[in-house]
Amino acid sequence: MDNPLTPVSDNPLRSLPYEPAFESLGEDYFDRVAPAEFPQYSLRFRNDRLLATLGLSPKAVTDEQWIEVFGGFPAPPPCLAMRYHGYQFGEYNPNLGDGRGFLYGQVRGVDGELYDFGTKGSGRTPYSRGGDGRLTLKGGVREVLASEMLQRLGVRTSRCLSLIETGEQLWRGDEPSPTRSSVMVRFSRSHIRFGTFERLHALSRKDLIEKLLDHVLQYYYPHLVEDRIPEVSSKAERYARFYAELVQRVADLVAQWMTAGFCHAVLNTDNMSITGESFDYGPYAFIPQYNLGFTAAYFDYFGRYCYGNQPEVCAWNLQMLQAPLRAVIDRSEMESALAQFYPRYQTTYRQRMLLRMGLEVGLDQVPEAVAEELLQRTIKLLFESKVSYHNFFVVLKQQFQGSWRSEASHILKDALEEGTPDDVVQVFESWRQFYHQVLQSLPEREMDAIATRLTQQNPTVFLLKPEIERVWDAIAQEDNWQPFYDLVEQISQE
Ligand code: AMP
Ligand code: MG
Repeated sequence: MDNPLTPVSDNPLRSLPYEPAFESLGEDYFDRVAPAEFPQYSLRFRNDRLLATLGLSPKAVTDEQWIEVFGGFPAPPPCLAMRYHGYQFGEYNPNLGDGRGFLYGQVRGVDGELYDFGTKGSGRTPYSRGGDGRLTLKGGVREVLASEMLQRLGVRTSRCLSLIETGEQLWRGDEPSPTRSSVMVRFSRSHIRFGTFERLHALSRKDLIEKLLDHVLQYYYPHLVEDRIPEVSSKAERYARFYAELVQRVADLVAQWMTAGFCHAVLNTDNMSITGESFDYGPYAFIPQYNLGFTAAYFDYFGRYCYGNQPEVCAWNLQMLQAPLRAVIDRSEMESALAQFYPRYQTTYRQRMLLRMGLEVGLDQVPEAVAEELLQRTIKLLFESKVSYHNFFVVLKQQFQGSWRSEASHILKDALEEGTPDDVVQVFESWRQFYHQVLQSLPEREMDAIATRLTQQNPTVFLLKPEIERVWDAIAQEDNWQPFYDLVEQISQE
């Protein structure tokens, strides 16, 4: 067989409009590294849907061309292992940095935004320490599925662009080993993390903090840059506005996870993007039932990153970020911005949960106070009935009818199984009466809009552990990739 990395002529992926944005910051922020060479390059997943953002059509890129670029990472885009520290499970760790990935290239999308190609599993770097710099194939498959599902559920997330199997055997404590290997390319807004700033603070490099902040504003918060808002007179004011906006973006993101029933599982500050985008999916899980204590990572012994703690730990992460930012932003300004985290979170969470029930919060829609009451009753119902979190919304979607507005007893008519305990029946009845009142408060013509929202917000397909394992078992046992492709297709189609 020819070397799969042999240059393929006129490869459109090599002539993308690469921009050396992060590279232009200089050598204080990264190490130049070389990608690993692998015994095998089998293309397992190419996310053709993302090509439109790059101004390419799927037909314009052959698999050979794809593998050449997203398996071999040829120059000119440099391979930059990003330097960062971070708080891991509450403890500061200065021994971090890209240990199995690097920033390969940055490209301006046709939407005008700058995007990163970030690798995972592409080989060892100065930050690998004892690690092998590799990604298991199962880890890659799981990240593809998580990002597609989150995207479908309206979460602001990075995506997987490419997954190539690399033919090595890996040893892991948390997977039957030896296990198969892969190299992934992530498509994200930025890989600059809270921890990127924390490292510069640990090094007492105020100059580098300011330089990085200017970079972040220029590329990811351009509306805050001087010439766009003439009334902002000082740099300090611009930086303060940045922090306030980041707080809001993160509050919105957590509200999106919570509504989706998603537990990220490892919310260390090195996994928090400075753009407020969700990324880096390791031992994540979607909740089977509503349970604030649900913990996804087996190594999260005290449940620090359990489902219900996500708002609190993200607020804590934002608090920790104040230490480096104090170099350039007033402490009290950051404190008052952070005080807005919970109100913002609560508002977005309420809005999005109501949307999953087909409803819009607003003056001529469902008033805030009514929305809050419905939210509390819904949570009580989900918690006490222990129904499938996902299925509750799917059944609501499937059974919804305009007649629910006139007749409360039609609402989720056969939802209760025989033998349901009396107290749960009561909680359900009270929920049903309240939902009915809300429907009645809306005009008849709103019922169609509710049906449309229910369909939009509640895909039938879901991604609990058994679904992931089913897909993985077919790959592991028979090298059958069809269930995986079918699931990805279903997630994005519906
Ligand atoms: P993560 O939990 O994936 O966010 O990774 C935390 C840190 O460990 C980062 O610095 C990673 O680059 C590093 N790391 C994780 N797995 C490996 C590995 N197999 N080889 C080298 N470094 C790794
Ligand atoms: Mg990480």
